[in-house]
Amino acid sequence: MATVLNSNDIRINNTRKIIYALRNSPPMTKKDLSEKLRLSLPTIASIATELEEKGYIADCGRTDSSVGRKPSLISLNSAACYAVGVHITTHFGEIAIVSFGGEIIARQIFRKAFTGTETYWKEISSEIDTMLAEKGIDPERVCGIRIAVPYILFPLFWEQANLQDKPEDMIDLESVPKLMPCEADLVPVAIAAGVPRYWYGKLDRDAAVVFLDRFIEGCILEKDANTGSISAKACLLGHMTLDYRGRECFCGKKGCFQEYCSAAIITDRINGLDTAHDVIGRFPKKKLIHLPGFFEAIEAGNEEYARLWDEYLDALANAVHNLRLLLNSDVIICGEMSEYVASYKAELVRKIKKIGMTKEDVDEYLHTSSLSRYDACVGAALSRIDSLVEKIGAG
Ligand SMILES: [Zn+2]
Repeated sequence: MATVLNSNDIRINNTRKIIYALRNSPPMTKKDLSEKLRLSLPTIASIATELEEKGYIADCGRTDSSVGRKPSLISLNSAACYAVGVHITTHFGEIAIVSFGGEIIARQIFRKAFTGTETYWKEISSEIDTMLAEKGIDPERVCGIRIAVPYILFPLFWEQANLQDKPEDMIDLESVPKLMPCEADLVPVAIAAGVPRYWYGKLDRDAAVVFLDRFIEGCILEKDANTGSISAKACLLGHMTLDYRGRECFCGKKGCFQEYCSAAIITDRINGLDTAHDVIGRFPKKKLIHLPGFFEAIEAGNEEYARLWDEYLDALANAVHNLRLLLNSDVIICGEMSEYVASYKAELVRKIKKIGMTKEDVDEYLHTSSLSRYDACVGAALSRIDSLVEKIGAG
């Protein structure tokens, strides 16, 4: 049954459409907007006036039309407000500040291992304060902080997975927003990581997000063709079975995707470690080979490492192929591994084509992120702006 929209819903949708149309776009006249969005000029004018009064859009001069009265141009007021995104990982975190228009104002790595204690979260809070101060942004102008957290840190998963090493002084995630300097909430990490592709990559189709980090997670993103808004459903993609007789996973099953393609799988194997399941960040005492060193060695001809990476890409090709068969949507690879996967994309595409059932163009549906490890924190901040946009429309 079709949903019946009341006049308020229609105004909310139209407000969203106008804001989305002005994002990443040169200044436009109201007439341009009216034609692009197929909305009447009075509707555009009424909403634009309200948005201008609230400071979300700005008048930026007039067109150089040579006939008659020159119409004024409007654009998004990128500095109307800011959002902060945080991504928590076991060994480091990342923090980003983005503007209302989606410009990345600052991004940096938070170099502390996750402990989950009140002290840890307070340190993140003060790091955010410092970053805002350095950029001269008054916390009053921050519309919110969104924290992207791996599923494994959500208490429900903790119980399901029977993880033993939860420290006693770790606080519940529900208490975390209260420790932040501005209004804050939490989001599953894969949902955050997929958002930049829509903002910067102008993707306008549904997509499956494969977040390749220490813990692999995923989500399905659906873009509403009418309003342009995105809805997301997170999933425990890391525990999709690739080989039911394969390697043992910490979840108790065998052959999970996590065991073949997480960011820690390679570094664990080359360093003789077993950290891929650690929820709490622990830095081993010995000197380690990290991912950049691993790939440099491959380029220098290290055959053992090249074999490991080939196995990695085989598993990833199977996972991407399965997702494509199941969902028939685009697939976005994000997270720490995405920059390396991007460098070897031609090889991955070749492997997918080899197992593929159709002759479709893999390059058309498979995307890798350009933000790499900053996907989730930037995406968390952008999605916080999206939440604000929904509220603006509601008056
Ligand atoms: Zn598993």
